[in-house]
Amino acid sequence: MGHAVGASLPLPWGTCMKPSEPAVQNALTVDVEDYYQVSALAPYVPRSAWGGMPSRVEANVDRLLQMFEEHAAKATFFTLGCVAERHPEMVRRIVAQGHELASHGFAHLRATEQSPAEFAADIGRARKLLEDVSGVTVKGYRAPSFSIGASNLWAFDAIREQGYTYSSSVYPVRHDHYGMPDAPRFPYEAVPGLTEIPMSTVRLGGRNLPAGGGGFFRLLPYAVSRAAMRRINRHDARPAMFYMHPWEIDPGQPRIAGVDPKSRFRHYVNLRHTERKLRQLLRDFRWNRIDCVLLQRWAADAGAMIPAQLAQER
Ligand SMILES: [Zn+2]
Repeated sequence: MGHAVGASLPLPWGTCMKPSEPAVQNALTVDVEDYYQVSALAPYVPRSAWGGMPSRVEANVDRLLQMFEEHAAKATFFTLGCVAERHPEMVRRIVAQGHELASHGFAHLRATEQSPAEFAADIGRARKLLEDVSGVTVKGYRAPSFSIGASNLWAFDAIREQGYTYSSSVYPVRHDHYGMPDAPRFPYEAVPGLTEIPMSTVRLGGRNLPAGGGGFFRLLPYAVSRAAMRRINRHDARPAMFYMHPWEIDPGQPRIAGVDPKSRFRHYVNLRHTERKLRQLLRDFRWNRIDCVLLQRWAADAGAMIPAQLAQER
């Protein structure tokens, strides 16, 4: 079970230690992008307008860092290269607080809308920039909008060739914008040397249902998300992975004009309540970085690690 996961990866012993108690730890992940960079809003905010939009990402990330510290949670921050370029001090604060820095690509383009050469250039540029800004090694990459699926499996080769050791880009569900419903539900070797860590799902009635955050977390009652995470921890005996965006705790974000009703609903639903739900989630489960929870060879057995002081790594 899980023998192939991370088998070829060096174990970051300086980063993670064996736990003093055997409670399951889950992976907490944040896709670091501003409210106007979301894929669903792309038709309404041209990239040429990004530079002139009032930015909220740094203030929202700082609020998340504060909340995570209050709840002794560590996380993986999949950060856009173009955001890191504008907010380098924010990137260094993420690392200084013991979180894992990972890549969300440079320009927030879906893998499905780029050629292999364009995709490789975007994710290579992002990794180099993030490492230059932070001084730490970047191991992980997450494609915008979970845009790796059956039609573009070549992307895994590109991700490995650009120096990453894991991807978290596949959502094994059916959805109108993304998804690969037949993909494995738990970490697997996508190509030699690259582990894919899929978004969390629960399997009910022969179908995979999304269980890892995003719009579902905001739309449905909190108890649904809690039950799903518990089912993964108990029934599947695995760590779960949760994902969110900084703008999801920001009800004061400027509204984008002219957005179609479906995208408007998905982006703005229940923003006022997300912080309260998130705090509950932070209390109800134990949270850690992807590289400490899901990348270790023995993570499936131990289910938990705690980050050491990262002084050596810095
Ligand atoms: Zn994104």
